[in-house]
Amino acid sequence: MMKKLIETNISVGYAVKLGTAYLQEHNIENAAYDSFALFASITGMSRTDYFMKTDEVLSDEILCEYEKCIRLRAEHIPLQHIIGKAYFYGREFQVNQNVLIPRPDTEILVEQTLQILKEENSVLDMCTGSGCIILTLALENKLKKAIGVDLSLDALEVAKKNYNQLQAENVDFIQSDLFTELNGVYDHAFDLIVSNPPYIRSDVIPTLSEEVRLHDPMMALDGFDDGLYFYRKITEAAPAYLKKGGWLMYEIGYDQGKDVSEMMKISGFEDISVIQDLAGLDRVVRGRLL
Ligand code: GLN
Repeated sequence: MMKKLIETNISVGYAVKLGTAYLQEHNIENAAYDSFALFASITGMSRTDYFMKTDEVLSDEILCEYEKCIRLRAEHIPLQHIIGKAYFYGREFQVNQNVLIPRPDTEILVEQTLQILKEENSVLDMCTGSGCIILTLALENKLKKAIGVDLSLDALEVAKKNYNQLQAENVDFIQSDLFTELNGVYDHAFDLIVSNPPYIRSDVIPTLSEEVRLHDPMMALDGFDDGLYFYRKITEAAPAYLKKGGWLMYEIGYDQGKDVSEMMKISGFEDISVIQDLAGLDRVVRGRLL
């Protein structure tokens, strides 16, 4: 099947169709979408270009490059890793194997956080990964101070690239095992702490798709035995870093709302609420330190 792709003189439309068929054969879920996305990343074509130029004949060079990408995707390498970028809240972020690929689910957390944030607030993003959350907040809102923390230096390297590329302002990235490096430096410094920590239960990890299980960093997924390790650690420590009236906002797994709300209550948070995503599943927990 794929051999056809490197034949000369095939059209734009036919190439993308062959790509789709090959991905379907390899059980790629959104084969048509991915086939076009790979083609677009090589040619720079928009959907409109694609429809206008569907009968245009492609050069061997482009076909060869396209075939290479299709073959990688057929091996279940995530689309975003092949093209090196992901879209989040309408912006392009660089990604690689050292960061969790930003998820549309996390846009709910950002949206909810933006409803609460005020200009000149100071915000901490714990487990920042690609920096997608803190950079979006800083770009959507004028913040006084914005800090992204991660244990992984490799992840922070990606976050800093995104910071430069997106021309965000006032965002610092700190390598730290949760709050360790912030201790004594940022006491009661933040109006809001936001986090999308690793929250998958260890025993669920083997059931995840190959794309996630083999290509997202394990340290960005694994929430240990009950999946709640990071919520517990962050919730216990957060009051020392929040101002009075400050908010703690989490992304959670669909079945973690009750447990995380309970933890927050024990640590002195009030006005706790669980918010659903577009699929109607619990996705965000927030609470305020009064
Ligand atoms: N904060 C980053 C994101 O939401 C990384 C999250 C993680 O590594 N668990 O994409």
